[in-house]
Amino acid sequence: MTGTPVRLDLSSPSRGPRGKPPRHFVDLTPSERAAAVQALGQPAFRARQLATHYFTHLTVDPEAMTDLPAAARDTLAADLFPPLLTPARTLTADRGTTVKTLWHLFDGARVESVLMRYPDRATLCVSSQAGCGLACAFCATGQLGLTRNLSTAEIVEQVRRAARSLADGEVAGGATRLSNVVFMGMGEPLANYRSVLATVRLLVAAPPEGLGLSARNVTVSTVGLVPAMDRLADEGIPVTLALSLHAPDDELRSELVPVNTRWSVDEAIDSARRYFDKTGRRVSIEYALIRDVNDHAWRADLLGEKLAARGQGWVHCNPIPLNPVPGSRWTASDPAVEAEFVARLRAHGIPTTVRDTRGSEIDGACGQLAAVEDEAAFAPASEEER
Ligand code: SAH
Repeated sequence: MTGTPVRLDLSSPSRGPRGKPPRHFVDLTPSERAAAVQALGQPAFRARQLATHYFTHLTVDPEAMTDLPAAARDTLAADLFPPLLTPARTLTADRGTTVKTLWHLFDGARVESVLMRYPDRATLCVSSQAGCGLACAFCATGQLGLTRNLSTAEIVEQVRRAARSLADGEVAGGATRLSNVVFMGMGEPLANYRSVLATVRLLVAAPPEGLGLSARNVTVSTVGLVPAMDRLADEGIPVTLALSLHAPDDELRSELVPVNTRWSVDEAIDSARRYFDKTGRRVSIEYALIRDVNDHAWRADLLGEKLAARGQGWVHCNPIPLNPVPGSRWTASDPAVEAEFVARLRAHGIPTTVRDTRGSEIDGACGQLAAVEDEAAFAPASEEER
């Protein structure tokens, strides 16, 4: 197979005003939903019926909406549930329990989401932006630059479709429910604050107002945008916060995570601690272990000291072996070095668990999402399945 780009059918719906996605039910407030169904000649209470179809039954298929008058179903669905995401590719790994989907958005922008099924839970990793503007040196998405923010409906649709697919038994292991959502796909969620927060509210609201996930099972991962972290702490939704630190010293962190020149290591850690104080949720510190770059024993000690200096029981560490990005000179730490790094953090009293690298062979692991769609990039999955 060559690296020729695949031609894909983009049957996009009509565009919204000024490049915005078409109007979607999920983006409307309850009163806007009522007004929208009335504008289509239907009583306002149909808005609640539509919410039940969407959030409880996870469907936008008019055929399934048998409690609506047959004559109105198609119009309501077409008007309020325009297709926002077109699946362009899906790839599976880990015996079918990891599924990566490449989505085309209405304007041709591309994002990916990754569904990971475990014995005790099913987690969807969602994208909140097409591309990302923060340019972290080791992250595939960071090399793309920012295309645009996603709307709330574009993020919630990733979740609804994953939940539907699990409910339909499409993922190996039989039908199940979606239990966790992590904002660890493409983009910096706190740089798209409004849409992400509205998404979070819909994820945790009880059906039929939302998907009914537990807030603790929703993780917002950030590069450390301190004002937005502080704002999130005040929202009264105890989601899990993950801070992508990757270095305990400003000199190195500013190289790896350029936004560190704006909010330093200490400022980001202080904000994470305030998040714990306000929400009672233990914060996760993400740390991609990069061979000979940030994996030194002294850096483990410095990180352990900085976290422990702010108390015990408020934080845990998630080192992850770097998922090498094509073309990068960096690679994952040696397993013995990783083990030493973990041991030193634990010696400082910091609970530490190494994160798995699910989906790495389909470029579906953390930091690998780049929405590539040439044949070469998609070849490994078919090999794997053989
Ligand atoms: N912008 C958010 C979400 C990004 S992706 C954030 O920065 O937190 C989720 C996690 O994957 C982040 O911790 C990110 O730093 C990490 N990551 C990025 N590239 C990686 C790579 N190549 N290997 C391992 N982890 C990576």
